[in-house]
Amino acid sequence: MSHSLPQDLLDSLERIEGFDIDAFVSVHQSNQQVTSIRLNPAKPFNMADASFNIQHQIPWSSRGFYLDKRPSFTTDPLFHAGAYYVQEASSMFLEQVITQTVDLTASIKVLDLCAAPGGKSTLIQSLLSSDSFLVSNEVIKSRVNILQENTTKWGAANMVVTNNDPRDFQRLPSYFDVIVVDAPCSGSGLFRKDNEAISEWSTDNVALCSQRQQRILSDIFSALKPGGILIYSTCSYSKAENEEVVDWMMETNAVESLSISCSADWGIKEIKSKGFGYQFYPHLLNGEGFFISAFKKSSSDAHAEKTNIKDKKNHIKSKANSYNLLDTIAAKWLMQNLKLAYYNWKEDWIAMPMSLLDALPFLQQQLYLKKVGVNIGTIIRNELVPSHELAMSTIMSDQIPAVELTLDEALQMLRHQPFDIQTPMNGWVLMTYGKLPLGFVKAMPNRINNYYPRDWRILNK
Ligand code: SAM
Repeated sequence: MSHSLPQDLLDSLERIEGFDIDAFVSVHQSNQQVTSIRLNPAKPFNMADASFNIQHQIPWSSRGFYLDKRPSFTTDPLFHAGAYYVQEASSMFLEQVITQTVDLTASIKVLDLCAAPGGKSTLIQSLLSSDSFLVSNEVIKSRVNILQENTTKWGAANMVVTNNDPRDFQRLPSYFDVIVVDAPCSGSGLFRKDNEAISEWSTDNVALCSQRQQRILSDIFSALKPGGILIYSTCSYSKAENEEVVDWMMETNAVESLSISCSADWGIKEIKSKGFGYQFYPHLLNGEGFFISAFKKSSSDAHAEKTNIKDKKNHIKSKANSYNLLDTIAAKWLMQNLKLAYYNWKEDWIAMPMSLLDALPFLQQQLYLKKVGVNIGTIIRNELVPSHELAMSTIMSDQIPAVELTLDEALQMLRHQPFDIQTPMNGWVLMTYGKLPLGFVKAMPNRINNYYPRDWRILNK
């Protein structure tokens, strides 16, 4: 059953000067679906291997593209290889907000507070320098797995996944240079994509969402450095979740609102209340409803801790000779010339940038860490048993023996069905599609063991 747009929402939009309510309603009735993807710059592929056709570039995104129609992403091995992320076009405007407000050449610490399933996190990671790092947090436990899976597929070594309540970040005063709060909201901006969501919308829920958004921002604000950037977004059209939250932020915190320059032909509405906000309407541009606003925390915020907590020098117990051992063992598995540090966690070895290793003891003390850097595998009898994270990562050597699979073979591997391939040697062999790694198999004289994680296998036929 198709639901019509809530009258209360339409009434509130009609009160906006110059708002074309007929065009707004008609775009919701059109059933038009916009499909867009954002490419992973660390995993380039040949378009001839893609299961889709790119229509044209999303004007506010350097790596985002509209597709001519929605393909079956589930049966596209490149999707499983982390070559791209399927992301709604409007939300890719986060790239503009970050590139226009943050010095990305510096080594910075970024928090994506409401991160699952990982769309904004993967976008942010692609913008960061390799010695910066991103903490991707999701409070709801059942949503952390998908965040972990998507960040693993993205492959970067400078990401951490945490499962904490926003309040917990008060234990990290003045720690982050940038905090992104893509807040839980009433979701009206996605009504065209998800008609069922209309039945759950109410003005009471909008009010509840607005209160929760303010609480989240209050909880997190002390974790932002003086002079740091706070980015707030929703996929709602409601003033109470957008302009009113911006106004509340300006009234209650020592912040400056930042304006973002947009080309007039992008169709984005700049809203000026006590601060700036940017609203996306689907009848004015090729994307769904979205709102975003950026603030700079005052450098002389009286509430801010004067001194940033120093990342305690790492007191990891691994002995120097373990590092040497790892260097020789890992050398053939990892790209050369990457300035990586290793951390030994139980049986596993984890690679990450030195900046993250320095921060790790402090992060470990304060947060519940679900994933750090790239778990490269376990060392058994001086040999590395490579992990799936290594196969998915962008730090793995390109000299590992590999077999390029056909589409059918790749799908058999991803479905965990038996598949018959010739490998150049026995032992660990990488399976690729479009030259991008899908995972390892272990080739024995008379059989092949598939190490693609069973939990991630494709279930449909
Ligand atoms: N940023 C994600 C992306 O781009 O893929 C989408 C995030 S979604 C809009 C909002 C997220 O906030 C959800 O993952 C939800 O589980 C989480 N969330 C729900 N309640 C929350 C709360 N009280 N504090 C922080 N996050 C919350």
